[in-house]
Amino acid sequence: MTAVPAVGADALHQALKTYFGFSEFRPGQIDIIRDAMAGRDVLAVMPTGGGKSLCFQLPALLLPGLTLVVSPLIALMQDQVRLLRANGIEAGLLNSAQTATEAAACFRAIEEGRLKLLYVAPERLLMTGFLERLRQMAAISQVVIDEAHCVSDWGHDFRPEYRRLASVRERLPEVPILGFTATATPAVRDDIVNQLQLREPARHVASFDRPNLYWSVETKDRGSYDRLLARARKGGSGIVYCLSRKRVDDIAARLLADGIEALPYHAGLNAAQRNHNQSEFIRDAAQVMVATVAFGMGINKPDVRWVVHFDLPRSLEAYYQEGGRAGRDGEPGECVLYFSAGDLRTADQLIRSRVDAETGEPLQAVQAAARAQLQTVVHYAESPDCRRVLQLAYFGEPFSAPCGGCDNCLNPPAVDDVTLAARQLLSTVARLGQRGQAYGSAHVIDILRGEATDKVIAQGHDQLSVFGIGRGLAPPRWRTLIRRLLADGALMQRDGEYPVLQITADARPLLKGERVVTLPQATRGATKSNSRRAAAGPVDDPLFQALRQLRLRLARENDVPPYVVFTDVTLHALAEQRPLNLQAFADIPGVGQRKLDQWGAIFVEAIRDFHDS
Ligand code: ADP
Ligand code: ZN
Repeated sequence: MTAVPAVGADALHQALKTYFGFSEFRPGQIDIIRDAMAGRDVLAVMPTGGGKSLCFQLPALLLPGLTLVVSPLIALMQDQVRLLRANGIEAGLLNSAQTATEAAACFRAIEEGRLKLLYVAPERLLMTGFLERLRQMAAISQVVIDEAHCVSDWGHDFRPEYRRLASVRERLPEVPILGFTATATPAVRDDIVNQLQLREPARHVASFDRPNLYWSVETKDRGSYDRLLARARKGGSGIVYCLSRKRVDDIAARLLADGIEALPYHAGLNAAQRNHNQSEFIRDAAQVMVATVAFGMGINKPDVRWVVHFDLPRSLEAYYQEGGRAGRDGEPGECVLYFSAGDLRTADQLIRSRVDAETGEPLQAVQAAARAQLQTVVHYAESPDCRRVLQLAYFGEPFSAPCGGCDNCLNPPAVDDVTLAARQLLSTVARLGQRGQAYGSAHVIDILRGEATDKVIAQGHDQLSVFGIGRGLAPPRWRTLIRRLLADGALMQRDGEYPVLQITADARPLLKGERVVTLPQATRGATKSNSRRAAAGPVDDPLFQALRQLRLRLARENDVPPYVVFTDVTLHALAEQRPLNLQAFADIPGVGQRKLDQWGAIFVEAIRDFHDS
């Protein structure tokens, strides 16, 4: 292990302000930094926007040698290097797309001992002789694996070249390895530790609550597009996720026709178009990105203010990650899911289309897993419970409602008591089970509603005592109830060619009338996100707008994204505190030494002008 000088808390705080401009650590950061400084292996799990980068960047600055950072995407590496340089930190990048001159400049900086952080693509790091060459040039103080879940094929973003990173341990046996990820599932975390051969790693798992985000679900109907348009008109960068390329193109075109700078992003566009559209969005030249889920992994834009899912995501975890792209900077963000039961049919068709490429046989296990995943997000959408409690419970984290930042807490939905219907349904399934039979939802609903279909007659199900006892409830409502009971575990679905319903032991208390079941009443429109936790920022403030314009101009002149100059957090603090001299300016969050020198005077002048006018 590298010998490390003891660094006190004061020195860490000092470095935090000097280099990054912040005066406090976020929850969890300081502990990770201490372990990194002590030369331990680390597994750090933090949600998106939690502030992972700082946890290895600050130690990188204070440790004597060079820190290697492995990251899966060139765009992510470029973004981080730009942000570091804007803070006056010597960081470099090596990837296969680079020219020889660029690479040579980077190696020179390493040899001269100037570089503190080197970002490398995994395949580059693993190239024969590369690590050996590096070691001759500089002492390597730590190896950081960013987006470490890419090493696991349990995760949602497995990358084979990441798997080969296991060899780093053997090639640099004395160098600590630190894995960082926003993966919420425990199985993936364990897999990371094994795959990367971490040695008694210090494990840090932060809360997955994102207090600045407001979560809501709205019924998807004819009014949905208008609500989306209204949201876009309120301003702020936004992402609209859709399931199909066609829908992406449609919605982008409609928004554009309605005067919103929106661009599409999906796998049907060529790489040049995709890059162009993405960079327009990052540079704030386009306000809205309408995209399939192909978009997002490679972007670090911290000031996305809202994410609307126009179509159903494939799982609750996917939804949490995609919605979570809002508000990385800690400023308020809104995540809205448009949901209609009709979407389930589309989703189900997609799942059914998963067949073996050669034989055409349905991939039973894959389909069953996809259905179970879908179930999690459907339950989320249809539940009257706190959205945060539902999400965090899925990740195994307890949380107590009300959260103060979701539709169900701020505006509790009216509910119908459907306990009786639930009992009717469960006894129908039980009755069929006694006869050794199991059927899918449609047939069970037919029996309950007394529909004398051919199948019902042929099976003699019109003779059952439960036939027709459930006419009072419309079929869509029955389907919602079935989904609820599946989510609650009173029913289970056995997958075959068609999924069939079965009763479980958990149905007992319900059948005995010991439990009440409620469903939210039908339609839900937009609710106001006027919560304390996710209050809208003062976007109408004319000074804030003026500072935004100034930032945009400086960003263009310097050819960087606006957030590299300053994030919204800094602009809001400036608009509020109105520093009129450099000393006061230095106290603003996000203003470190370098940015004070580079931008202080020009921003102070703008604030003075505003003040005087
Ligand atoms: P992650 O990689 O975990 O998604 P980032 O490292 O990109 O998150 O950090 C998200 C945002 O939080 C960035 O804008 C970063 O500057 C900011 N941030 C990180 N640490 C702090 C802190 N201690 N105080 C204030 N802002 C912070
Ligand atoms: Zn809530």
